Amino acid sequence: MKIGTIASHSALNIISGAKAEGFATALYCKTDRISFYQSFGLGDSIVEVSSFDEILTIDTSDVVIIPHGSFVAYIGAERILNSKLRVFGNKELLKWEEDRSLKTRLMQKAGLKVPPEFTSIDDIDGPVIAKTHGAAGGEGYFIASSRDELESKIDPQIIYTFQKYIVGTKVFVTYFRSIARNRTEIFGADIRYETDADANLRFNNRPSFLVIGNLPMVLRESILAKYYQMGVTFAETYKRLTGEELVGPFCLETIIDKDQQIYTFEFSGRIVAGTNIWIPYSPYSFIQFNKPVWMGRRIAMEIKELQEQDRLEEVLS
Ligand code: AMP
Ligand code: AMP
Repeated sequence: MKIGTIASHSALNIISGAKAEGFATALYCKTDRISFYQSFGLGDSIVEVSSFDEILTIDTSDVVIIPHGSFVAYIGAERILNSKLRVFGNKELLKWEEDRSLKTRLMQKAGLKVPPEFTSIDDIDGPVIAKTHGAAGGEGYFIASSRDELESKIDPQIIYTFQKYIVGTKVFVTYFRSIARNRTEIFGADIRYETDADANLRFNNRPSFLVIGNLPMVLRESILAKYYQMGVTFAETYKRLTGEELVGPFCLETIIDKDQQIYTFEFSGRIVAGTNIWIPYSPYSFIQFNKPVWMGRRIAMEIKELQEQDRLEEVLS
């Protein structure tokens, strides 16, 4: 059995982690990126493809596929859900992530504070963020400081969700839900750096939220304790609502305001690119395991432990 993924997003993290645990690996790589991945010594993992969706047609029956942000972006949720791929994690969760109302419901049922949404423009009385549906990495979002500004910016052809704009610090916290060890681990925190929202100088009134990369963050320990509880409750709530386990890495995407209120505006049910910061380890994974454990390696450790317990099928969908 191999561990595989498509060559983008957090593939270096995933494949290096699988290798560290002694697994054979498959890195589905487009021709123009082969030399890049070879430069990291991953040449022996590469399976050349002309486009990422080729993995839907080639034989991957001996491969456990680790999904990441590029799967939905380049292959599409629907096609992944209907595929024969043996995916590590929960395909059901992808449905909850795709559907904005299911997503909000899960976050609210888990007791998370979600930024208020406005169904009517008339109810808006302060700063808002307008989100387009299915936006990848914040592209196409815009902000407005008032209802009047919003009205001048909206495109009547586009369907938006209007959310209260929360002023504060962005905090992305990643977790690992281990089935083998029956526990939820806090893994690390980061700040997503977005052009031009995070730039000091702006010469337009429509700053872009396009993600460029991530910065490491270590939280105040009192705040970290709150996030630990949020992650535990989130995983429990998912199980209660769907009857299925949340498997492996997940992320809560939040903003903390000046009153230390934590607003969760999004979650992600798989490895996020913010974990790339924490190679070879995060402060928390180091304390937990006393050795270098980055997220890709944590996933491989889980797969190995489940194989030993003869329970791997429980985490594949
Ligand atoms: P890429 O690997 O840059 O082609 O990105 C693939 C998908 O993952 C796109 O939808 C990106 O918006 C998303 N993505 C890549 N890097 C990050 C990141 N650091 N944070 C959030 N999303 C990301
Ligand atoms: P999303 O596509 O929901 O992950 O959001 C992309 C980016 O928009 C986030 O990383 C934040 O910078 C920003 N954002 C999203 N929702 C809010 C909100 N309610 N208040 C302030 N900023 C937000």
